[in-house]
Amino acid sequence: MLLHANAGMGSDSLIYAISRWLMCQQPAGMKSCGSCHSCQLMLAGTHPDWHKITADKGKNTIGIESIRCLTEFLVSHAQQGGAKVIWFPAVEALTEAASNALLKTLEEPTDNTYFFLECRDPASLLATLRSRCFYYYLSVPECKTAISWLQKQKISLAQVDIETAIKLNAGAPLAALTLLQPENWLKRKQFCQSLMQHLSTKTLLNWLPELDQPDAACRISWLISLLLDAVKYQQHAGNYCVNQDQSSLITKLATINSVDILLKSATEWQNCRHQLMSVMGLNQELRLTSQLINWQNALHYHN
Ligand SMILES: [Zn+2]
Repeated sequence: MLLHANAGMGSDSLIYAISRWLMCQQPAGMKSCGSCHSCQLMLAGTHPDWHKITADKGKNTIGIESIRCLTEFLVSHAQQGGAKVIWFPAVEALTEAASNALLKTLEEPTDNTYFFLECRDPASLLATLRSRCFYYYLSVPECKTAISWLQKQKISLAQVDIETAIKLNAGAPLAALTLLQPENWLKRKQFCQSLMQHLSTKTLLNWLPELDQPDAACRISWLISLLLDAVKYQQHAGNYCVNQDQSSLITKLATINSVDILLKSATEWQNCRHQLMSVMGLNQELRLTSQLINWQNALHYHN
């Protein structure tokens, strides 16, 4: 099974629960029993037929050696009786050679063997790999459902805050829950407040420290969503804004930027974010500074 899900959708928990059920020697309906030998091994995290395949040590890819070891293990333990589960929490990490090696195993799996391939972006996988899997997309819940679930998790913030956190995370409830933790939510509030302040005093360059943080990629995403909200506001589609809790900031952005500048800035920030995430050794502070200068110059030109 190729399970496609956004971050924060609980796909790990889902796969673990299904695995527990598959491994259990006496499952009760849809649940594992929790007490058989197999369940005890699973609970201890030491089941020999349960494999979690992650990136090689010190790398962010899964190489062909890992797949060879796995295949050898499956073949030599084929006659053990119980189910075998192989879980790839991020199948995008497979190198091309490793993907090709895995194809053969997927085509002719050993008995009672289950593969769970988890991915965020199926388009980045080899088409031949995708075509050998059952594809399942874990869709996000309706906003109403996510709000009521979050309220049950002792999130005591206003509904507008909860809704904003859900939308900022493309509907994924667990990711929203993390963002709504007091220290994280405060961070985002401060981010927005300080942007408002620096836009008002026309000192965008001094906003740099708010961007130049270890979680810069996330902060740039927040900024992009604010820029796009400002476009929606200009087009009288304010109801569709993501950052419903930031109406004065969105109004401000929409007032001082033309639609062209907003869209151009959003694209440029997207490129900047992509570079920061993918180019090794790129100087984050310099890259962010140059992008802020671009944006500030565009604003001056407009004024
Ligand atoms: Zn059991």
